Amino acid sequence: MTSFYDALKARRAGIEQRYHDLTPTSARLAQEARRVLPGGSTRDTVIRRPHPTYIRRGEGGHLVDADGRTIVDLWFNATSLPLGHADPRVARAAREAIDGGTAFFAPTGLETDLAREICARLPSAERVRFTNSGTEAVMLAARVARAFTGRALIAKFEGSYHGAYDDVQWSVSTPGMGSPEAPAPVAASAGLLRAEGRVLMLPYNDLDATTRVLGGQASEVAAVIVEPIANRMGMVSPKPGFLAGLRELTARYRIVLVFDEVISFRLGYHGAQGLAGVMPDLTTLGKVIGGGFPVGAVAGRAEIMDVSAPDRPTRVPHAGTFTANPVTMAAGRATLEALTPAVFDELNAAGERVRQALRRVTSGLPLQITGAGSLFKISASVAELVDHRSSMRCDASWEELASLELLNEGFFLTTRLHGCVSTATRPEDLDRFVDAFGVIVRG
Ligand code: PMP
Repeated sequence: MTSFYDALKARRAGIEQRYHDLTPTSARLAQEARRVLPGGSTRDTVIRRPHPTYIRRGEGGHLVDADGRTIVDLWFNATSLPLGHADPRVARAAREAIDGGTAFFAPTGLETDLAREICARLPSAERVRFTNSGTEAVMLAARVARAFTGRALIAKFEGSYHGAYDDVQWSVSTPGMGSPEAPAPVAASAGLLRAEGRVLMLPYNDLDATTRVLGGQASEVAAVIVEPIANRMGMVSPKPGFLAGLRELTARYRIVLVFDEVISFRLGYHGAQGLAGVMPDLTTLGKVIGGGFPVGAVAGRAEIMDVSAPDRPTRVPHAGTFTANPVTMAAGRATLEALTPAVFDELNAAGERVRQALRRVTSGLPLQITGAGSLFKISASVAELVDHRSSMRCDASWEELASLELLNEGFFLTTRLHGCVSTATRPEDLDRFVDAFGVIVRG
C-alpha cells in the first residue's frame, strides 16, 4: 500500500534533477569546498543534500543565490534576523561602528547600553555577560551554575539542542534510549568524554517524570536548562504549567533554572519568560540580540551572575577577544530598538496567519503544524509532537524532499521544514509559499 508520503518520494529523481538544473553554480562551489572543508562544510546546520544553495546576498525578505535566483527566505539565518536582511537601520549602526574601529582591548560603553536594554526587557535579568555565540553562553551559564551551587550535574531535556558545548551535546537528534520517563544520555558527537557525573537527562513536557528523575539526584544538580520552545523537537511548545512546574521544582531543590532563550527571545518583547510569566534564574541569549553579527549572552539574577564579578575571591573568569565588540553591540541595539511591542504584535500575527493557512492547506493529511509567535514547523507525522520520542516518529526523508521541492519553487526553509517570518517578509510571499506547499502536498 502506498502512503501519502510515498507519492512525493516517487518523484525524488525529478525533484533532485530540477534542483541540479537550478543551482549549477552552487554545485560547483560545493565541489570546491570539499577540497578544503571537511565534507565541504564548516557549519553542519547548513548542509543540504545534494548540495547547499550558496547565497550571494540578502535583501529584506529575500535571498539571491549564487546563480542569481531570488528566493523567499523563511529561516533568516536560523531565526536571528527578525528585521530581515540588510535592514537599513541596523546596517547604518553597524557601518558607523565599523568606521570607528571594530574591536578594542577596552570597553566602549555600547555593551552597557545593550545590557541595559536586555535588563529592561527580560523580567529576570539584572546582570548580563556577553559572549560570541549561544554555545558559549550555555557553556558560561553551566559553569556559573556549578560555581554558584557547588554541584556538578547539568540537567537537560532529551532532544533539546543548546549548541555545541560538550555537556549539552547529549541526546540531540539521536535515538531515544532508556525509558521515555527516565531517558539515558546518548552522545550526539564522537569525542565527548562522558555524561556520568556531569549530565542528567529529563523528558520534555512530562512534569511528573521530571519530578521523579530530578528528585532522585536533586542535591547533585547545579542547573536545569530548558528551551521555552523546543526547536529541534519540532518547534514543540511547553504544555500549560510545564515551565511554572519546573520553576517550583528547581526552587524547592535550590537548582539554578536556566531558560535557553537563544531562539525564544524573538517570541515577545519580554521574551518567552514574559509570555509564560515564569522567572528563570539565568537566561541564555543569542541570535536577535546581535543584529545579525556573532553574539551570545547570559543574563540573570545579580546574586548568581556576580560569581563572575572581578572582585570575587573564588570566581568564574570569562573573557573573549571579540566579546562585546562594538559592531555587534551597535547592531544588536539597533535591532532591539526596532523591535517595539507593536512590532512584535505584527510579527507574531504574521506567524499566526501562516500557521493557520498551512493548517488549512494540510487539513486531513498526515502533516502537523507547530510553532508560536513568528516561528512555524511542518512535520510529517500524525502523532502529536510533545517531546523527543514523538518527534523521532516524523518521516524525516519526506520533510527533506518537500523542503528541496519548496526550494525549487523559490522558498527557503530548513531541510526539516522549520520556518520563521521577519518584519521584512511580504504577505504576498507568504501566500505564494502556502500555495506552493499546497501543490506539493495535494499534487
Ligand atoms: N541554544 C539554542 C536553543 C539554539 O537554538 C542554539 C543555536 N541554534 C544555540 C543554543 C547555540 O547558539 P549558537 O549557534 O550561536 O552557538
